[in-house]
Amino acid sequence: MTGFFGRLLRGLAFASAALTLLPLQNAHAQSTYTQTRYPIVLVHGIFGFDSALGVDYFYGIPSALRSDGAKVYVAQVSAANSHEVRGEQLLAQVKNILAVTGASKVNLVGHSQGSPTSRYVSGVAPHLVASVTSVGGVNRGSRVADIVRGVAPVGSVSETLANSTALALTSLINVLSGGTSLQQLPTAALDSLSTAGSAKFNQRFPAGVPTSGCGNGAELVNGVRYYSWTGTKPMTNVLDVSDGLLGVLGLVFGEANDGLVSACSTRLGKHLGDYRQNHLDEVNQVLGLRDWFSTDPVTLYRQHANRLKVAGL
Ligand code: CA
Repeated sequence: MTGFFGRLLRGLAFASAALTLLPLQNAHAQSTYTQTRYPIVLVHGIFGFDSALGVDYFYGIPSALRSDGAKVYVAQVSAANSHEVRGEQLLAQVKNILAVTGASKVNLVGHSQGSPTSRYVSGVAPHLVASVTSVGGVNRGSRVADIVRGVAPVGSVSETLANSTALALTSLINVLSGGTSLQQLPTAALDSLSTAGSAKFNQRFPAGVPTSGCGNGAELVNGVRYYSWTGTKPMTNVLDVSDGLLGVLGLVFGEANDGLVSACSTRLGKHLGDYRQNHLDEVNQVLGLRDWFSTDPVTLYRQHANRLKVAGL
C-alpha cells in the first residue's frame, strides 16, 4: 500500500507540477508563435486599401499576427494600377520598412493583385525579400478581367453573363472603394490582370509561377521562398453583401475559383491548400463574415507566420 500511495503521491505531485508549468509554457509559446525573423508586409489587391473608416483591408489580421510577436506592416499602393507601378510603390515602402526596423529582408504576403505586386519586388530586388506568399493571387490572370476588358474569346461567354459580370464587378468596387491619393489607372490594372497581360508579366517575373497546370511552382528562387493558398468557394455566407456579386462572377470560370480568380491562377511556389473561402473571405471580409464551418482565415495567416518562423524567415 505504501508503495501504491507513494506512487500515487509522486504521480499527483508530477501532475501538479506539469499543470503549473502548462500555462507558463502556453503563454510563452503563444507570445512567439508568429514571431518571424523578418517583418511581415501585407500587400492589398486591386481596389484595396490599408484601412478605410478604421477597418483593416486584412480584417483583424495584423493585430492577430502582432499579438504573438510578428512585426507587421500594411503596404498602401495604388488601388488600381499596373503590377509594375504598384510594385515600384511597394519597393519604396519595403526600403522604408527595412530602414525603420533595421531588418535585412521582409516577408511579403500579397492578396489578389498584391501577389504579382510582391513578385515584382522579389524580381527586381530579391536580396530584400525572404519570402513571397500569394493569397488568392492573380498570378496567371483572371477571366473576369478578360471579360471586363472585352478580350474574352468571342462566344466563350454570353453577352448577358458578360454584362452582369461587369455590373457585379462595378458594384463590388463600390462596396470596397477606399480613398487614396495614389495614382489610379483602372484600365492599366485590368490589362495587368488579364490572362494575356499576366503571361507577359510572368515572362519577366517567372519566379515561383507554375508554367502550366495547377500544381506547385518553384519553391526557392534567387534565395526567395514562394508559397500560396486560396479559396475555391464563391459564396460562403448569405449575410455578406459581397457574396451575391462574387457568386455571379464565379459563374464565368467553369473551373474551381474564389469568385474572382481561378484556383490554378493563384498557384505560386509551395501550394498550401484550397479552402472554403471566396476572394474576400481570404482577407476575412466583409467584417469577418465567412463560412463558419471552414478554417478561420485569420488562423491561416497565423499558421503561415509560424511556418515562416520555423523556416527561419
Ligand atoms: Ca465573406
